[in-house]
Amino acid sequence: MAEFIPQASCADAHEPQSLTVAQAQQQIHDLISPIDVWEKRALRDALGGVLHEAVTSPINVPPHDNSAMDGYAIHSADIKGDSFTLRQVGIAFAGQPYMGDIEAGECIRIMTGAMMPTDCDTVVMQEHVEVNGNLITVHGTQQAQQHVRYAGEDLKAGELALQQGHKIRPACLGLLASLGLSEVTIKRKIRVAFFSTGDELRSIGDTLQQGQIYDSNRYTLYGMLTRMGVDILDMGVVPDQKQALRSALQLAAEQADVVLTSGGVSVGDADYIKEMLAELGTVNFWKIAMKPGRPLAFGQINDTLFFGLPGNPVSVMVTFYQFVIPALQQLSGQQQQPRYHMQINCISPIRKRAGRFEFQRGILFENEQGQLQVKTTGEQGSGILHSMSIANCFILLDEACSGVEANTTVTVQPFADLI
Ligand code: AMP
Ligand code: MG
Repeated sequence: MAEFIPQASCADAHEPQSLTVAQAQQQIHDLISPIDVWEKRALRDALGGVLHEAVTSPINVPPHDNSAMDGYAIHSADIKGDSFTLRQVGIAFAGQPYMGDIEAGECIRIMTGAMMPTDCDTVVMQEHVEVNGNLITVHGTQQAQQHVRYAGEDLKAGELALQQGHKIRPACLGLLASLGLSEVTIKRKIRVAFFSTGDELRSIGDTLQQGQIYDSNRYTLYGMLTRMGVDILDMGVVPDQKQALRSALQLAAEQADVVLTSGGVSVGDADYIKEMLAELGTVNFWKIAMKPGRPLAFGQINDTLFFGLPGNPVSVMVTFYQFVIPALQQLSGQQQQPRYHMQINCISPIRKRAGRFEFQRGILFENEQGQLQVKTTGEQGSGILHSMSIANCFILLDEACSGVEANTTVTVQPFADLI
């Protein structure tokens, strides 16, 4: 379904070279074109969607000059030193403007959001005013034009309100509503089909026999995909059998823009994903110089993108975060999302050998002095999913790093609220 430009395998299928994380990300990026199908949606239904075209403001927001305070609208020519008296001749509420004339020495009572009368340019806060019948005496220094919000101050008519590719978040719904727009054109949602592979896997609710484990990858993938706002198709667990894998991959590719699997991409005797993908489509099988998450299959079946993620539960999450999320964002037409890195003092020593890029699970926390610090979650095996569930960031250790002593500055990538 998605548009995809095929490319020959990047490495020898038998003895692939390791790619760096950055190389793999770049190759994925170079192969994806954003979907070009869009639809009109009622404003509320557009939440989480990606804008197909830029939105320019049809009106000034706010549409009229208005008061930023409850108080009195005056003309600045009437400001006389630190104490002066004016006569109140009317009142303006938000939505009920004062339409009469205001002469020199006169003022009106005005509420926050009420339209400024044409004869006034300044608002005096009511806290600075002493009222005596219809006379008010203003105390304290007042500046001309103070406490006025001007027409078009937020957005001017014709001005760019939101760029093409902007993901619609709650603030955008409000912004679009402030422009009076009831509909918006967004990209069609992308559809992701996924399944787990492995003879040892059982679904929750089943009783485990010897050698079996519960399938957890489908749950982490479900969670991450749901948070990304894509349509999902959960295809369950598929055993390590060629025919079953072939049928599942074909069915998934027919129904989705992207297919994700976990497991079966290693070099074990029951790891058939790579072979099936080569049979049904194009495969780029990569060994990536990273830990966790070394093997990753990436390719296409017809025009559907395919990611064969590793089986280990932490590897699934790390490869999803580093490779699949940017790919899904790009495919859905979303503007490139920056990933923020921070330099933070790490209080834990970290053992590491040079050569591979490591994504250690970390916990960012404030120490007693209120300084942000990071520590590891402890044991970092790729099967220890607990490390992901208590982490709030990755500690990024590049290929050259050969271990970190306690109280050294490290690079931290805080989790976006996706995992
Ligand atoms: P594989 O890449 O298929 O050899 O799997 C690597 C490791 O991850 C093995 O220990 C598997 O049992 C485990 N694993 C694979 N798939 C899952 C899954 N869906 N849930 C939990 N563990 C899994
Ligand atoms: Mg397996």
